Amino acid sequence: MKIPIPRLTITTKLSLFLLTFVLIFYGTIVLVFIHIQKMMSISEEIVSINNVVASQSKVLIENLLEMDSNAKKLSVLKKPVYREYFETSLANIDTSVLTIEHLSSRGYTAPAAYSLFLDEFTAHINLMRKELTVDPEVIFWVDEDTLNTWLALLVQLRDLNQAHTEDSLMSIHERSLQSTQNGLLGFGLSVLAAIFGVWFISKSILIPLKELTHGLRTLSQGDYTKKIHVTSKDEFHDLAVAYNDMNSELSEQENMRTDFIATLSHEIRTPLSSIQESVNMLAEEVLGSINQKQHKFLTLASSELTRITQLLNHLMHVSMLESSTKGMITTEKINPVHLILDCTESLSTAAETKSIQIKHTFQENLNPVRGRRSELQQIIINILGNALKFSPIGSEVLISVLKSENSGYVSIEITDSGPGISEDERSLIFNKYYRSKSVRKHMDGVGLGLYISKRLAKAVGGTIQVKNNPDNGCTFAIIMPEAK
Ligand code: ADP
Repeated sequence: MKIPIPRLTITTKLSLFLLTFVLIFYGTIVLVFIHIQKMMSISEEIVSINNVVASQSKVLIENLLEMDSNAKKLSVLKKPVYREYFETSLANIDTSVLTIEHLSSRGYTAPAAYSLFLDEFTAHINLMRKELTVDPEVIFWVDEDTLNTWLALLVQLRDLNQAHTEDSLMSIHERSLQSTQNGLLGFGLSVLAAIFGVWFISKSILIPLKELTHGLRTLSQGDYTKKIHVTSKDEFHDLAVAYNDMNSELSEQENMRTDFIATLSHEIRTPLSSIQESVNMLAEEVLGSINQKQHKFLTLASSELTRITQLLNHLMHVSMLESSTKGMITTEKINPVHLILDCTESLSTAAETKSIQIKHTFQENLNPVRGRRSELQQIIINILGNALKFSPIGSEVLISVLKSENSGYVSIEITDSGPGISEDERSLIFNKYYRSKSVRKHMDGVGLGLYISKRLAKAVGGTIQVKNNPDNGCTFAIIMPEAK
């Protein structure tokens, strides 16, 4: 069973990314905050217990010494005040013991040394109380060795407490380091999530946008066959589907138009040839003599018929180019210099009519180019024909043939001193039927010459570029691959 892929729109993707980022970023902040709070309260507790144990062990040691001294004084001086002092110290010790006992409710466990002291001390005090009832003038106190042992146990209590506190603070320090590392890791992860999110979203926007831009560019160049593929299931996918539908529709309409023009041109060309033949026969007085006026009009009609036949040839050529498939072209080695000279020759009458001088410059040691002679000839004639058409009377047209900047190519550059081509129109002039606004009204043409030329050049791996000259006019560069 096929599991349906959930539709991830751009909004969903953005929301998911934002949610992940916010969760990681603020999650880290909250965790680090909780951790720090906990460590602060633990360290406060440790310090407070330590202070209590340290102060109480001091009280215990001092009062134990007091008791010893007062017991000795009482046995020598027999003054009851020493018993009172002794009892006060004993009460102080009881209070300290109670205070230390209370610490167990806060998680403190007294070391074994303290328990030993407490057991022995309590046992002795109980015994002492019994002795006291016998003779109140004498205190039944411990000998020097026992006292020293007790004092040593209390010193041990104090030192162990200090060592325990240091250990606990050290472990808190380690935990704080750990939590800093965790915080940094969280921030690192959120930065990674942000980078990944930005990369992912840009990818899911930029790739379809690039596809669409490429599709629109090919469409603007008159190629309706390019379909665009957007794999994501977001709004761009919908846009791609709409674009492809529009492309198919345009392509269908274009095919119908091309077919129609091809059929029409074909149908018109045959009767047109017979009309032209008849007109020529009449003009040449094959069918009887005519007067000068009739001759003038018949010549005019003949030249108009030639123009229409050329136009039909162009139209038929376009439909032939569009229906031909790639890979059918067989190429030959062509000497570019000879080719240029031939084309110049065939346009010499047009140049003479406008008193235009055609000049040539050929770079030395040029390699032959790869292509088909008739087609390359047509390209040059179209572009040179335009140069002559648009150049002013008495000007010059320069044809240079040189090695192209791209190695392996030869560049045929045709420079005129006509009106040039505006920046906005530079990419449009190679489109089918495009003619610049400034020439539409007063010059012949159908806007097919450059379209055909570019297609023919492309078919053999060449291209045509155009740029305006610094002073006036423009230069068309026909860049053709060298024959290997
Ligand atoms: P057309 O039959 O109109 O000459 P082309 O395809 O040969 O058709 O040219 C298309 C348009 O390009 C022309 O209408 C013209 O506006 C412009 N163009 C072509 N060559 C030149 C040039 N040498 N100088 C100025 N404009 C040019």
